[in-house]
Amino acid sequence: AALPCLSLLVSLLLWPAVFFRLFHSSALPQSHFRPSYALFARGCCRKPQQKALVRPTGHRKALSALPFSLKHIFGKQTPHPTHREHCPIPSPAIAHTPTTMTMLKGDTLQERSKGRDVRISNIVAAKALAACVRTSLGPRGMDKLMQLPSGEVLISNDGATILSKMNVLHPAAKMLVECSQSQDIEAGDGTTSVVVLAGALLDACSGLLSKGIHPTMIAGSFYRAAEACCLLLKEAAKPVDLADRDSLIHAVQTCLSSKVVSQNSDLLAPIAVDSVLKILGDDPGSATNVDLRDVRMVEQLGGTVDETELVDGLVFDKGSTKTAGGPSQIDNAKIALIQFCLSAPKTDMDNNVVVSDYAAMDRILRDERKYILNLCKKIKKTGANVVLIQKSILRDAYNELSLHFLAKMGILVVTDIERNDVEFVCRTLGCTPAPHVDSLTPEKLGTAEHVGDVVLPGSGHKVVKFTGVANPGCTSTVLLRGSNDLVLAEANRSVHDAQCVVRSLVKERYLIAGGGAAETEASLRLRELALETTGMDSHCFKAYADALEVIPYTLAENAGLKPIEIVTELRKSHAEGEVGAGIDVKKGRITDMYKQNVIQPLLVTTSAIKLATETVCMILKVDDLVPVYG
Ligand code: ADP
Ligand code: MG
Repeated sequence: AALPCLSLLVSLLLWPAVFFRLFHSSALPQSHFRPSYALFARGCCRKPQQKALVRPTGHRKALSALPFSLKHIFGKQTPHPTHREHCPIPSPAIAHTPTTMTMLKGDTLQERSKGRDVRISNIVAAKALAACVRTSLGPRGMDKLMQLPSGEVLISNDGATILSKMNVLHPAAKMLVECSQSQDIEAGDGTTSVVVLAGALLDACSGLLSKGIHPTMIAGSFYRAAEACCLLLKEAAKPVDLADRDSLIHAVQTCLSSKVVSQNSDLLAPIAVDSVLKILGDDPGSATNVDLRDVRMVEQLGGTVDETELVDGLVFDKGSTKTAGGPSQIDNAKIALIQFCLSAPKTDMDNNVVVSDYAAMDRILRDERKYILNLCKKIKKTGANVVLIQKSILRDAYNELSLHFLAKMGILVVTDIERNDVEFVCRTLGCTPAPHVDSLTPEKLGTAEHVGDVVLPGSGHKVVKFTGVANPGCTSTVLLRGSNDLVLAEANRSVHDAQCVVRSLVKERYLIAGGGAAETEASLRLRELALETTGMDSHCFKAYADALEVIPYTLAENAGLKPIEIVTELRKSHAEGEVGAGIDVKKGRITDMYKQNVIQPLLVTTSAIKLATETVCMILKVDDLVPVYG
C-alpha cells in the first residue's frame, strides 16, 4: 500500500517541474518528454531494479534529460541499464543454465557453483587420487616413497598406508582415503584395489551422467550391481577349511607377492598363518572372527628379514637387567609381574628432608635398606624366580639396591614392562599382576619352561625369551628382523596384511582366484544379467561391468603387458567357462590361477566391491559443498 501512495506523492511533486519544463524551456521537444514521463509514472509502481530491465534506450535518454533524477526521489542511484548483466533478475540464459544460480542479496550478486559442477569437481578429485595409487596395484606394481613432515622416509606398496600419509585436502578425495581405511579394517588386504575400483566406477558415472541419467538412478543401480556381483562371486568361489594349511599359505603368498618383502614370502607366509591359527586355539572351526592384537610383533633391527621367527612364547625387546650380576637363564621359571615399586617410599607432596648429622643419615639408609630387603624377601617367599617390573611414572620402579638383593636371591629381573603390555603378558604367561607386595601370592605366578637372554645374530642385541609357556590366553609373538628401519617397518605392515588375509578366511571361508580372474568373472556375469534386465538398470549394470575390468587392465598395464589384448583374451576364456582364468604377470599370459595357487579370500574382493560402490554413490549424491564456520 505504501508504494502506490508514494507514487501518487511523487506524481504530485512532479507536476510543477513538468510544467516548468513544458512552458519555460524550449530545449526539450514535447515528443521527447511524453514517453519518458509515461514510463516513469508507470515505473514508480515497480521496484527500480525491475524497471531497469524493461526500459528502452530512447526513453532512458529522455528521462536523463529531466532536470532531476530518480536519485532525488528514492535517495539512491537508479540501476543503470548498462548493468543489465549484473541484474539480479535471472535473464533467460541464466535461468536455463542448471549449473549456475544467481541469488538476490541486497544489491550484490552472488553466484555459487551448484549441482553438476560440484559433482564433476568431486569426481575429478577422487579420480585423480585413484590414478595416483593405480601404479601400485599387483605384484609388478611400483612402490611409493613418502617423505613425512618430520623428514622421515617411508616406502610402501600398501594403498591404505600410502593414502593415509598423503596430504589430501579435497573432501571428496578424502572419502576415498577413508574408503581405503575401511577396507583395511574390514579385510586388511585389497586397499589399493578398492581405490582403483572406485576410480573406475566414478569414470563410469561421468559417462552415465553425461547421458542425462539422474545420479540417484545411477546410485541405486550401482548398489544393485554390487549386490549381484557379491552373489555371483560367492557362487564362483571355492570353500576352504581352516585345517587346510596349504591353501591358507597360498592365499597369504598372493597377498605378500605385491609387497616390498615379496622375496621373503616363503618364510613370512607360514609365520603369518601359524601366528593366527595359534590364537584361534584348539577349535578354529567354530571361530567367526579373530583379534589380531593377540599377535605381538617385536621388531629388532639387525640381520635380515629371513631371520624373522614365530616365537613359541614371549619376547621382550630388551634383555634382562643384569647390572647387579643376577642370573640370565632360568629353567622351570615361576614368574611374578609386579606393579609396585622396589625403591624407597616417597611422600605424595614434594618435600625436603634436611639431615644434619651422620647418625641420622645412617639411620635413613638403614631403614631404606630394611624396607627394600623386606619387599624382596616377600617376593622370594612366593617362590618366584623371575620378576617382571612394570614401568612407573611416580617414582623409580627399582633401584640399584633392589636389583642387588634380587640378584643375590637368584631372581632374574626384567624391567620396564609397559602398562599396555601387562594384559598380553598375563594372558601369555598365565600370571596375575600384583599391585601391592601383600597381594603377591604363589597362585599369581606364571610359568615357563625356560626364560633367558638370547643374543640376536647380526646386531649382537639381547632380548629375553620365555619359552614353554602355559599360554592360556592363546597369544603369539613374531620376532621381526630387518637390516634397516624402512625394511623392518614395511615387513611389519606386510605380515600384518598377511595375517589379515587369514582373518578374512576365518570370517568368510571362501577362496577365489586372483590375478584379475574374480573381477573378470563378475564383470562377465553382470553383463549377462544386464542383457536379461531392461531399463536404466541394464544400462548401469553394463557400465558397472566395464568398470570392474579396471583390475585386470591395471594388472596387465603395470606388468608391462598389452592391456587390451590381455583383457579381451581373459574375457574370452571366462566366456568359455574357465572360471579361474587370470593374468600370469610373470609369464605375461592367461593361465588358470587356481593351478598357479594365486588365490585370495572372497571377503577381500566382495568388501572392495561393496565399499567402492558405497563411496562412489556417496560422492554421486553430493550436489553442493557448503563451508561451515566455527
Ligand atoms: P591391494 O592393496 O589391493 O591388495 P596389491 O598390490 O596387493 O593391491 O595387488 C592385488 C592384486 O594383485 C589382486 O587383484 C591380486 O589378484 C593380484 N595378484 C597378486 N598376486 C598375483 C600374482 N602372482 N599374479 C597375478 N596377480 C596377482
Ligand atoms: Mg594386496
